[in-house]
Amino acid sequence: MLKIQENISLKDFTTFQIGGKAQYFVVAKTEEDLREAFAFIKSRKLPLFTLGGGSNILVSDHGYNGLVIKNEIKGIKFIDQANDKVILECGAGESLDDVVALSVIRNLSGLENLSGIPGTVGGAAVQNAGAYGVEIKDHLVSVGGLNSDNGKRFIFENIDCQYSYRDSLFKKNKKFVITTVTLELCKKPFFKTEYAGLKNKLANIEKVQASDIRKAVIQIREDKLPDWRKVGTAGSFFKNPIITSEYYEKLIAVFPNLPGFPETKGKTKVPLAWLLDNICNLKGHKEGKVGLYEKQPIVLVNLGQASAKDISDFAEKIIKIVKEKTGIEIMPEVEKI
Ligand SMILES: Cc1cc2nc3c(=O)[nH]c(=O)nc-3n(C[C@H](O)[C@H](O)[C@H](O)COP(=O)(O)OP(=O)(O)OC[C@H]3O[C@@H](n4cnc5c(N)ncnc54)[C@H](O)[C@@H]3O)c2cc1C
Repeated sequence: MLKIQENISLKDFTTFQIGGKAQYFVVAKTEEDLREAFAFIKSRKLPLFTLGGGSNILVSDHGYNGLVIKNEIKGIKFIDQANDKVILECGAGESLDDVVALSVIRNLSGLENLSGIPGTVGGAAVQNAGAYGVEIKDHLVSVGGLNSDNGKRFIFENIDCQYSYRDSLFKKNKKFVITTVTLELCKKPFFKTEYAGLKNKLANIEKVQASDIRKAVIQIREDKLPDWRKVGTAGSFFKNPIITSEYYEKLIAVFPNLPGFPETKGKTKVPLAWLLDNICNLKGHKEGKVGLYEKQPIVLVNLGQASAKDISDFAEKIIKIVKEKTGIEIMPEVEKI
């Protein structure tokens, strides 16, 4: 029988270390657990929130009125293919970084740039987590799980997941609870090392291996990002804005050093950290219990005992300043619940 708990503080289940209580809370370790949880919400007409590692959410100070299901469905299976590929089937509750580490130990290429990203494989498949030129969608074959409306199994192929920059079908449609993620890795070296910082770190290595990239990425992350085990944060609070290339041209006429990365359909992605540092002069900006991390201003940090309201109010101010100074409307990456 599934143990559904009441009034459980969500604070310790998020890397921000913030949040009120869940009305109901349950840990699901199997699909059977999920089906029982679905029956519970159906009988009480409750909303559902699926929690992974809690590393990209901001939980309201008032908590969550409904059932929070913490997905701890595990399992990692490497399946050798006849070609140079290996299929990797993961339970959605596995730690993404553990899965990356295991694939690197086997010298498989594909996931190494994602080293050090907190959270679960399921959460990464929802967020289309990415770093240093790689997104999980680049190696994702399919996502499977249960539809909480009817308990039926679903499998979405990569193309059906509607992936784009930190976005997917699952962000808009919360009824899909992911239980498995299938990835495809390569036995041959097939690395992405164009990111400047990464390239520099690997410059003196003659024959780069997946483990070299993992080590370099972890070093870069340690230099640039706060340690979420010690500091409350959800990583990048905002998305890097994607603007029309026409507007980008106008901006570089005024700010000639503004970097820009071409996207499809006449759009350009600009690094928000650069805008915050160089145009908005917000480097290391702090207000009360909230601040922008000194080494990476796109990251908001809980300086100690901040409430969700403190974070939201601070984020709103940043959004307003960026709009005033650049004309760009920035969007949060972190999901508020
Ligand atoms: C220090 C730090 C650094 C970070 N660096 C990066 C980075 O480099 N790149 C990057 O992309 N992100 C980064 N992040 C953000 C975060 O780690 C990722 O977005 C991560 O993939 C979220 O996974 P999670 O399991 O913690 O998801 P959660 O935060 O628990 O949930 C995120 C969303 O996914 C949904 N969800 C989770 N599991 C399931 C499931 N099984 N079924 C259905 N829905 C589910 C939730 O409902 C929610 O909508 C960073 C965060 C921190 C704290």
